[in-house]
Amino acid sequence: MPVVFVGHGSPMNAIEENEFTQGWVENMRNIYRPKSILSISAHWFIPATKIGVMEQPRTIHDFYGFPRDLYELQYPAPGAPELAQRIVNLVKSASVEFDDSWGLDHGTWSVLKKVYPEADIPVTQMSINYTEPPQYHYHLGEQLAPLRDEGVLILGSGNMVHNLGAVQFDKLDSCYSWAGEFDEWVSDRIKHGDHEHIIDTSSLGTTSKLAHPTPDHFLPLLYVLGASQPDERIHFFNQKCFAGSITMTSVKIG
Ligand code: ZN
Repeated sequence: MPVVFVGHGSPMNAIEENEFTQGWVENMRNIYRPKSILSISAHWFIPATKIGVMEQPRTIHDFYGFPRDLYELQYPAPGAPELAQRIVNLVKSASVEFDDSWGLDHGTWSVLKKVYPEADIPVTQMSINYTEPPQYHYHLGEQLAPLRDEGVLILGSGNMVHNLGAVQFDKLDSCYSWAGEFDEWVSDRIKHGDHEHIIDTSSLGTTSKLAHPTPDHFLPLLYVLGASQPDERIHFFNQKCFAGSITMTSVKIG
């Protein structure tokens, strides 16, 4: 299975048909049908590494002020408790705790609703432990790599650039220079297999801080890169800025 990092952007993508949702479908529907899906979403950002074990994960509407249609949307995919157990056995560098309370947040279901609308592939989420440094997340990704040979789709869902405070709702097609710069820099590093500099973006100084005032939307990318192998095919899609300070750039590796 390939590994995929998806820029999820606005929750509205779950009910809209637009260039981004088209990009998700075009680039993810054409891969082998996964046996199950492990999603690492920016929106489960807690002080622990947890894995969902629910038989039937709930659809979490973790956003405010959106149209009612969006709150009524459900993604009733089955859970993947066996995959959760497999992950606990596979990860040696950290203790992974079972979780039966979270479910699927919009980082996961807004994308999967478009790509696998039948909701018939088992899905579970792994949390992002915010007490740990970037290297920790990359290393977790490395340990998850064997799952790819077992038919598991590892999906990282965040945004390559994500600064909500700077969003320009009246200029959806705009792009701050630092947003474009950071996105291009990271994309170039991915193309060159230079993960070291992506794990530590401090060399970019202010640009890095502006691109990610908090790391939640960036860290899912490190899981995907960690689970990738050198010399795999790398394919970018949805390479576009949204509302000035968010980029939708997505990448499929393998
Ligand atoms: Zn988000």
